[in-house]
Amino acid sequence: MNYYPKTIRNAIRSISKLPGIGEKTAERLALHILRAPRAEAEQLARSIVELKEKTLLCRRCFGLSDAPVCGICSNAGRSEHMLCVVEQPSDLVSVEKSGAFNGLYFVLGGTLSPMDGIGPGELRIRELASRVAEGSVREIILATSTTVQGESTSAYLAETLKRYPLKISRIASGVPIGGDLKYVDQVTLRRAMEGRRDVT
Ligand SMILES: [Zn+2]
Repeated sequence: MNYYPKTIRNAIRSISKLPGIGEKTAERLALHILRAPRAEAEQLARSIVELKEKTLLCRRCFGLSDAPVCGICSNAGRSEHMLCVVEQPSDLVSVEKSGAFNGLYFVLGGTLSPMDGIGPGELRIRELASRVAEGSVREIILATSTTVQGESTSAYLAETLKRYPLKISRIASGVPIGGDLKYVDQVTLRRAMEGRRDVT
């Protein structure tokens, strides 16, 4: 790497910090960017800065957004009566890609994991309860992963939300036990959504 001037060495070092990118790939990418038209390189740099500066969490669903309220939450064509609860913003995207759901979402921010010090207070459970208390939600779909933590979080939520007049269901068959929603294909996720079962 010392054969390169400092500018290229710096680029290689930054790029190699990305997950799954070794030094060889970083070197290839840095040289690619160097050879690319200036406008293309600037667009890449600008999109990275904007990614950090302009991406925020939607104040309704806590999914990723570039506005205070995201495109899904502000879409009048979606059912406000159904709320799909997921762990992370990436899970929201997975369910959305399946095309099986036309309601709204709520991102919990993780799963209960007492061993790692993550109790109910560390997740957006209070926010979820106040969202439900607003009154427009009639059905909650618990789409946390089917890992042990995902299941216990789902059970905890079902118990916590029992006092509201709600139908509460859990995504079902299709999602393998121990499965993370990110790795579940869209057809499977669509079936899991359609085959959800009541938990109350
Ligand atoms: Zn939103």
